[in-house]
Amino acid sequence: MSDFGVYIHLPFCLSRCGYCDFSVVTDKDDSQSAYVSALENELEFWRERVIYAPISLYFGGGTPSRLRPEFWTRLIEKFADLFGLTPEMEISCEANPESASAEILSLWKDSGVNRISLGVQTFHPEHLSNLDRRHDPEGAFAAVERIREAGFDNWSLDLIYGLPGQTLDEWKTDLKTALSLEPSHLSFYNLILHPGHPTTEKAEAAMTPDSEDIQSEMFLLACETLQSNGYDVYELSNAAHPGRACRHNLLYWRGGEWLGLGMSGSSYFWQSYFHNPKVWPIYLNAWEGVPSDLPFKVKQASWEAQLLDFVMLRLRTSEGFMIAELEDLLGRNVGIDFRRLLLEMKNHGYTQSDEDRVALTPPGWLVHSEITSRILESLLRKEAN
Ligand code: SF4
Repeated sequence: MSDFGVYIHLPFCLSRCGYCDFSVVTDKDDSQSAYVSALENELEFWRERVIYAPISLYFGGGTPSRLRPEFWTRLIEKFADLFGLTPEMEISCEANPESASAEILSLWKDSGVNRISLGVQTFHPEHLSNLDRRHDPEGAFAAVERIREAGFDNWSLDLIYGLPGQTLDEWKTDLKTALSLEPSHLSFYNLILHPGHPTTEKAEAAMTPDSEDIQSEMFLLACETLQSNGYDVYELSNAAHPGRACRHNLLYWRGGEWLGLGMSGSSYFWQSYFHNPKVWPIYLNAWEGVPSDLPFKVKQASWEAQLLDFVMLRLRTSEGFMIAELEDLLGRNVGIDFRRLLLEMKNHGYTQSDEDRVALTPPGWLVHSEITSRILESLLRKEAN
């Protein structure tokens, strides 16, 4: 059986950041009780149907640190009653500096949370302001201090590169400052520009002909810097000290199964996808009680979708995939064309493949989508023949 984890979406935010495309609410703090009731109903519904023991529980958002303590307690106790909480489980909570209070951190710690992911994004005040973040660099340093004081030794910082007008030197400084705080894990994301979002306009205004090259340099610099400072870059946006990779995220990339609860939560198991409504009132209506059947459609994953997920997700990780696993999925040998393609990619420095395994190098990660497409094209062409 593959690993199984649970994600719980807590969509509450103080305001929407200029680049954010997540499913969030900024005016529903008074309705946190109704939201937690809907989550409790979801937990009950799924408990009847899913019998696996989770290896991880991940509270993401939104801003989980904005959930009021009394609702946190209700939610975690419900989860513990239904699914159980064990010391072996990885239990992560995302937090933002301005709401990661000593009170909430200590409550989390007491209830079994053992991993924190702090959304810092950058240490430059003007870039924080461009992103419409609600904290300043001092707020981030103070939050790290509180995380430590609460007794967490497994915690992560999120950084973003490719910010409007950001220089390579500024990115270097962000990495250096992050490293000086000694997080056990660091995520580094390339800014994604969504049409019509305030940050997109700023990024487009600041764009130069070499912006894309600079972002590639930023990515390679991050991989190099983190590796030379004792971090394992175990996925194209994530690095960790040995033993501190995020087990919950690894489960997504390694083909595990998960339940995604809450507004916009999506789940994958029984080789099917389940998507919760993304809109607040529709989500609350769907889970007003414990339904006898799923209140939304189930999408069976086609064989092609499973193949795409396998190649795309595994190639995000530094371990890549074993050719034998791919052959199991295909039900045949990969064939000579595929082996030739691997050799071509290896000669370009994109893969570190051997006879048995395919994994990308940092330059390969820069063209991860293109490589995924070429591999699929080669495998499906063979299938069509
Ligand atoms: S804090 Fe995170 S989830 Fe909330 S609006 Fe900002 S980016 Fe989006």
